[in-house]
Amino acid sequence: MEFKKPSAAVIEQLKAAVPGRCLVGDDIVEDFTHDEMDYNGTGTPDAVCLCTTTEEVSAVCKICYDNDLPIIPRGAGTGLSGGCVPFFGGVVVDTSKMNKILSIDKDNMIARIQSGVLLVDLANAAVENGMMYPPDPGEVYATVGGNVSTNAGGMRAVKYGCTREYVRTMTVVLPDGRIVKLGGETSKNSSGYSLLNLMIGSEGTLGIITELGLKLIPAPKYQVSLMGVFADMPSCIRTVSKVKLSGYDPQALEFMDATLLGLIEKYMGKVIYPHEAEGTPINAYLLTTFDCRKEEDMDEIMEGVSEVMLEAGALDVVVFDTPEAFRNAWSVRKAALEGMQAAYNQMDECDIVVPVSHIADFCEYLWSIEDEIGLKLIATGHAGDGNIHCNCMTNDMDPAEFRKRADLFLDKAFAKGKEYGALVSGEHGIGIIRKKHLEQSVGKDVMDLMRGIKSVFDPKGLLNPGKVCTYVDGR
Ligand SMILES: Cc1cc2nc3c(=O)[nH]c(=O)nc-3n(C[C@H](O)[C@H](O)[C@H](O)COP(=O)(O)OP(=O)(O)OC[C@H]3O[C@@H](n4cnc5c(N)ncnc54)[C@H](O)[C@@H]3O)c2cc1C
Repeated sequence: MEFKKPSAAVIEQLKAAVPGRCLVGDDIVEDFTHDEMDYNGTGTPDAVCLCTTTEEVSAVCKICYDNDLPIIPRGAGTGLSGGCVPFFGGVVVDTSKMNKILSIDKDNMIARIQSGVLLVDLANAAVENGMMYPPDPGEVYATVGGNVSTNAGGMRAVKYGCTREYVRTMTVVLPDGRIVKLGGETSKNSSGYSLLNLMIGSEGTLGIITELGLKLIPAPKYQVSLMGVFADMPSCIRTVSKVKLSGYDPQALEFMDATLLGLIEKYMGKVIYPHEAEGTPINAYLLTTFDCRKEEDMDEIMEGVSEVMLEAGALDVVVFDTPEAFRNAWSVRKAALEGMQAAYNQMDECDIVVPVSHIADFCEYLWSIEDEIGLKLIATGHAGDGNIHCNCMTNDMDPAEFRKRADLFLDKAFAKGKEYGALVSGEHGIGIIRKKHLEQSVGKDVMDLMRGIKSVFDPKGLLNPGKVCTYVDGR
């Protein structure tokens, strides 16, 4: 398929489809050329349509499809895999103005929203109604449509699962402008192929999600966070499965080392976690959260989990049991990416997911290759579900040399992960950057099935080209 450029007449059609909200030329700000990781590459769109309704998205798609223009769905642009970047030009369909919460249905425990609603707004609306929307990826200013399109995970996935578990219905605009409704507001569904599930995690390559019906759950009444502090990372990591097996059912289990903590403290300009326990330097931190419905359960959890951690080798256990202490403890974890970005100007990362029993071995392997790679390596993230965020970083290296070393690191990390039965991405998605590793992981037959599905939804290959399973000009 040869992509076209929009003629002046086509631009006029787009302007008529979204009156006053079609950006071209200098009105397209730089933000639209990349996602959160601009090292994933940049691309300039021919137009950006700021849509407000399903019908507007449909009209824009139809114009693009009839004129062979690439269509690139975009939420808030906080993705980490280049998924929303218009590498081959075309029209960005921005959903961030589709930000209405349509209803919170307490009887059915469903939130009906437009897809551009921010995660923070949905989470707050659920809480205001005595309920909880469990998925909580680290970036609360992402759109929920973006979360669904990447099947975003986050900290609470250990207990509550990822975004997929909470999607009941969706309205989707197909690349040629047709509008379809998928799923149902029922708690069961065995009604043919689950196209709803196919859309979840499809990263804008099959259709554009415009509305969503999402499952809410009753809000837990009490929460407590505990942090085990350790002299070394191996004992910290090996504690993860012990906490999971303890039966206390953690909703979150996150790990970080002292080096990363130092970067975060510098970025935040404050110190929240202890640095030593009774004279012994702390090198590793395991932050957990538990929730419960009765206040008296909290004491049992605090005592029981502390015992498990201390028996597993923790130097000490810190309890964050007031709302302020809880917020402070988690603000450190949530600033991890920003802390690394502030300290290093060259960076790459991946979010391999390994079976929980292999987290320790996998992390120890990563630390063992740091000298060979010649970059700063930091492994951190969601210890409770094996979703390890592996970062390699440096400053001011020749860009080609950095790329070579980062690629060597990624190749080695994915190859080792494969030995342990890992998957390429636990939550960030494939985008444009992880296609090679996806193919190595799942094999050609599976990739061909994905490409076959893609061609049913998008026979002209115009929707988000070059992402997940397709290539354009070798990219
Ligand atoms: C500081 C930080 C922390 C993060 N922590 C986490 C984390 O813990 N867990 C996690 O999973 N992610 C995390 N992320 C990644 C990011 O927030 C998620 O990938 C998020 O889901 C992207 O949403 P978005 O609205 O920004 O989407 P975008 O970046 O705009 O798009 C992401 C992908 O979805 C597609 N898309 C967007 N909207 C639609 C739509 N309406 N219909 C169809 N396709 C669409 C795009 O084409 C693209 O392929 C983090 C990012 C940052 C910056």
